[in-house]
Amino acid sequence: MTIFSRIVAGEIPSYMVAEDELFYAFLDINPVAEGHTLVIPKLEVDYFFDESDGMIAAHMQFAKRVAQAIKKAIPCTKVGVAVMGLEVPHSHIHLIPMQTEGDMDFRKEHLKLTPEEMQAVCDKIAAAFE
Ligand code: AMP
Repeated sequence: MTIFSRIVAGEIPSYMVAEDELFYAFLDINPVAEGHTLVIPKLEVDYFFDESDGMIAAHMQFAKRVAQAIKKAIPCTKVGVAVMGLEVPHSHIHLIPMQTEGDMDFRKEHLKLTPEEMQAVCDKIAAAFE
């Protein structure tokens, strides 16, 4: 079981911003920007491009709704999208509110937000999710 499946199962806490039957969106614990969110399928698949065509479409459509909520909740020019998965073998789409290209740089120093700040960001995005 991946760490993300344990999050979906409620065994590990997360800052959940949205979910439906198939997908779960939560704040990245080590964000590169305020509002950095991960969107995962509840079904455990390691590699994004191993998802079925239908699942990729549904995954992206769910991520689109989450990105729209992020855009409303967090001041940004656009919401960037990245798929890497080198660390956690459970397919996830990174959604990152961007002001500049540098906001997508995973090598830079990540933000250190307090639990209260994380919760506040989470609540804002969750409230904007439709
Ligand atoms: P990657 O697999 O390279 O796309 O990176 C995995 C991402 O998951 C990183 O940005 C981590 O900060 C994030 N991450 C790892 N564990 C957790 C967790 N328990 N809750 C939220 N985000 C996590």
